[in-house]
Amino acid sequence: MKHQHYFENAIDQLQAENRYRVFADLERVVGSFPKAIYRTCDTNQDEVKDRTKTSAKEVTIWCSNDYLGMGQHESVIRAMSDSVSNIGTGAGGTRNISGTSHPIVELEKELADLHGKEAALVFTSGFVSNQATLSTLPKLLPNCLIISDEFNHASMIEGIRQSGCAKKIFRHNDLEHLEMILAAEDVNRPKIIAFESVYSMDGDVAPIREIADLADQYNALTYIDEVHAVGMYGDHGGGITEREGLAHRIDIIEGTLAKAFGVLGGYITGTRKIIDCVRSYAPGFIFTTALPPAIASAAISSIQHLKNSSLEREQHQLRVLETKQALYDEELPLMPSQTHIIPLWVGDADLCKKASDRLMQEHDIYIQPINYPTVPRGTERLRITPSPLHSQDHIKALTDALVETWTFLELPFEHYDGSNEDETGKQSVSDQLQLVVHKSGG
Ligand SMILES: *Cc1c(COP(=O)(O)O)cnc(C)c1O
Repeated sequence: MKHQHYFENAIDQLQAENRYRVFADLERVVGSFPKAIYRTCDTNQDEVKDRTKTSAKEVTIWCSNDYLGMGQHESVIRAMSDSVSNIGTGAGGTRNISGTSHPIVELEKELADLHGKEAALVFTSGFVSNQATLSTLPKLLPNCLIISDEFNHASMIEGIRQSGCAKKIFRHNDLEHLEMILAAEDVNRPKIIAFESVYSMDGDVAPIREIADLADQYNALTYIDEVHAVGMYGDHGGGITEREGLAHRIDIIEGTLAKAFGVLGGYITGTRKIIDCVRSYAPGFIFTTALPPAIASAAISSIQHLKNSSLEREQHQLRVLETKQALYDEELPLMPSQTHIIPLWVGDADLCKKASDRLMQEHDIYIQPINYPTVPRGTERLRITPSPLHSQDHIKALTDALVETWTFLELPFEHYDGSNEDETGKQSVSDQLQLVVHKSGG
């Protein structure tokens, strides 16, 4: 075969850097979330892999982005299966060619309402919604400058790159740096500030109000990715912007239907005119088949449920706090997160992978290692995401497993103090985590 060695080399390079990715073969079972069946191939060292010989065991998932377990919620499952029975499977084409299935019309109304916006537009994924919108809107603004947080998600970076417009990167959540960039421009030059509400690898939150203030002062549009907040924050699941009463201060709110809402798809919400422009100009929207109607029906059910019920959100936050406290009490190196995302510092790609493997092999716990390029090199971590369905027994089992793994791999037990934080920052971990610090006898 031609050119195979190039591909081989490319994979070898990933393996040499310990960042070759292996996906766990998992089967979730309705009613038993966060448990799932994990399958592996039985291979003896020298034997050729026989994919028919597999072994299976039950594991506990601690890294799902189905944050609230809505993917197995009774009413969401019913909405999807009813819709499939009544309407069928696929959408039958792009909306341009084949029209819009009615559930998508309803879904877009639901989403506009969720964020208090005039209109919404649904895409096949959150990735596509960011990429399509950020590659299209800036082109419609003359000489547009895009100002982007350095930790923005790959889908935003791709979109910005594809727009071909000028861009400037501001240091993560750094208002002074953002203002410096804004102030250096002609106030009349069209600008878009693109950022996230909850940053998914650190669990920190953007200073949304201050960014909106700067946007007003310097004449910039605001674009926020609320992917890791919709469904989970705000009285109706409208995200951090709802919780802080700031949705009206942000021009475009983007979200996913695939994480807390437990289904699939992405969306943007904003003014009728902005939505109409993306609908009319974005190739990533126009030239691809719409979501299946059953997906839209399931998403509607999930959104409506979480609009009316805060139980899942409250349980979620409680479990998160209990998990943080349990890990903190064992002096495991929690990184300071203000949200439901719990990053555990490892700081080494090889050890991170080894810790993850050991948790799976010895403790039946699944936590995917987070390595470059998802996070910068040298900041590798385990990213733990509790759900309302993780019990206290699950938390205890997780804590014991992590302690054993840390001991086995000789990873340090010490409260994380952030390698580039100053002395005063060191006190803040327990504060930021809102944890109770138990004074030991000594
Ligand atoms: C996962 C993710 C996306 C993409 O959403 P999908 O619906 O999974 O395609 C966008 N932004 C952020 C910050 C994400 O973590």
